[in-house]
Amino acid sequence: MNKYEVLKNIFGYDSFRDGQESLIDAILNGRDVLGIMPTGAGKSLCYQVPALVMEGITIVVSPLISLMKDQVHALNEAGVHAAYINSSLTEGQISKALEYASRGQYKIIYVAPERLDTYGFVSFARQADISQVTVDEAHCISQWGQDFRPGYLHILDFVNKLGKRPVVSAFTATATEKVKEDILNSLKLQDPKVMVTGFDRDNLYFGVETVKRKSDFVFDYVMKHRQESGIIYCATRKNVDQLYLSLLKQGVQVLRYHAGLSNEERRQNQEDFIYDRGNVIVATNAFGMGIDKSNVRYVIHYNMPQSLENYYQEAGRAGRDGESAECILLYSGQDVMINRFLIENKEDNPELDPVQIMSVRQKDEERLRLMVNYCTTHDCLRKYILDYFGDENECRCDNCSNCKAEFEYEDVTEEAVAIVSCAMELRGRYGATTLAGILAGSKAAKLKNMGAMSFKSYGKLENMSEGGIREIINEMILEGVLKTTQDKYALVSPTEEAVPILVGEKSFSLKRIAKKKEEPAFAAMRPVKSKSKAGEILLNSKGDELFEKLRLLRKEIATAEKVPPYIVFSDKTLKDMCVKLPQDKQSMLTVSGVGDNKYDRYGQQFMDIIKEFTAGEPVSTVLD
Ligand code: ADP
Ligand code: MG
Repeated sequence: MNKYEVLKNIFGYDSFRDGQESLIDAILNGRDVLGIMPTGAGKSLCYQVPALVMEGITIVVSPLISLMKDQVHALNEAGVHAAYINSSLTEGQISKALEYASRGQYKIIYVAPERLDTYGFVSFARQADISQVTVDEAHCISQWGQDFRPGYLHILDFVNKLGKRPVVSAFTATATEKVKEDILNSLKLQDPKVMVTGFDRDNLYFGVETVKRKSDFVFDYVMKHRQESGIIYCATRKNVDQLYLSLLKQGVQVLRYHAGLSNEERRQNQEDFIYDRGNVIVATNAFGMGIDKSNVRYVIHYNMPQSLENYYQEAGRAGRDGESAECILLYSGQDVMINRFLIENKEDNPELDPVQIMSVRQKDEERLRLMVNYCTTHDCLRKYILDYFGDENECRCDNCSNCKAEFEYEDVTEEAVAIVSCAMELRGRYGATTLAGILAGSKAAKLKNMGAMSFKSYGKLENMSEGGIREIINEMILEGVLKTTQDKYALVSPTEEAVPILVGEKSFSLKRIAKKKEEPAFAAMRPVKSKSKAGEILLNSKGDELFEKLRLLRKEIATAEKVPPYIVFSDKTLKDMCVKLPQDKQSMLTVSGVGDNKYDRYGQQFMDIIKEFTAGEPVSTVLD
């Protein structure tokens, strides 16, 4: 089979996605590759397609047992002979697998990095025909990342032990220069083709919401999306437990995950989530790396994470199947304090000297500051993220809470002048809270002690609340009229941009989200349908009805086969069936994600439901 036949007949897809084909071509030409593509971009296909086109065996190094299991299940479902070898198997099972492998039973073998050091595996590999070694989640090789796996450093040794050097391919979603260098150096890739695709995920909606009670917001949201799978991330175990209990008490079927639970409970809960036995999981960031579940429809952050790197990775677990999904961050000022506390109390890496430790702290602080800016900016959120990761982009996405919001403007030039004057009077020695206190004429003991009453600015804005003044100061910082020092004290001083405002040449306005009367306070409470990405087909109620029936069948099959439902067919595939209403083999094979093997196994059952549903009549299942 050539690459197109593999794509269509095995995986059931019509075309390659951005970046896939050129990586596949390079591998097929015997060239090493490094693919850096965002979560959900389809990195697996980049090595699986060549693995099936080439003679010989592909060995895939993967960091987690659950990831390997998932991938092997998915390949087996598609009719590919694949296996994994890791510590979840007994010694007996491992020798059996190696025996089969030696007889050429598997085209693709997944292994944990530690396996590459073992005598049994090395002697198998030395006598076998290995055409490709793939390093998945390749950032695990970098000591700078949080997912560092020492075993990854032995991959090169392993490759060198093989009689004939296979092509080496590496894949990751981590885009930083440092990690990229580490991968290239540690694997000694030879004249590699390095492919970095854009980091945009255009099927994801990004929202930041400031709400009165976060738990109420989550409850409402979960109830409105009852049929859908979602993850709710909290900053601490305590938050997880509280939210979990509160949802449970309100009758929501909910799971939880954090490092404080027993191994068994964690494993069970993760599995229940992946197998669609529970739709919602409340978790700390300990949950996730092994989650390839493609039908996660929303990720809510109950607390602001420490950096946009963390945020984008966690939020990116939504919508891997390419269908619309929502990423909502619930922001409150308190999150900043919690994160600052976490940074200050983080255990220092004992391998670093004091200067390096200082520099790590500073970088943490800087990342936190840019994360807060994400939560408070009024500009396009997607643009903010893509700018942060150095991706070129257009300025409005129309699929984030800022692009969707209507803003109103309030002229606050007079207040801005008072604030700048005050900052000048204080000569950059105080933070925003003190500034606001002085301008509001606060009687707080702290201000009295510093003799604030004698300042000219004292009480200049006494008819405003301190909170109101803070809001203007924040906006002035965002707009670059004021700047802050980048340590935890964040001392405020004016920039050059303040001059035209001070001399009356320029006005300054406050931008606020206009709250419309009958709409709920949080913009994200619209039904999922109203915010599809451009060009996406939406189902009408008839279509939804069929979708539910197909989902039920999928669940039945998955339970019988003991695999997660999304491995039988993705949401996207079921939706495509609802649109195309295939009633014979030929049209079923045009559905995205239906290959020959899956057609043979399940095609008829799904067509039976579709036939029964349409009962020979033309049915319209999509919105006009
Ligand atoms: P990554 O490893 O980059 O996060 P995956 O390899 O897990 O992403 O792929 C994400 C999803 O995209 C999977 O459900 C996969 O089947 C699907 N996919 C990959 N390539 C294509 C393609 N060319 N057309 C349609 N769907 C694809
Ligand atoms: Mg992957």
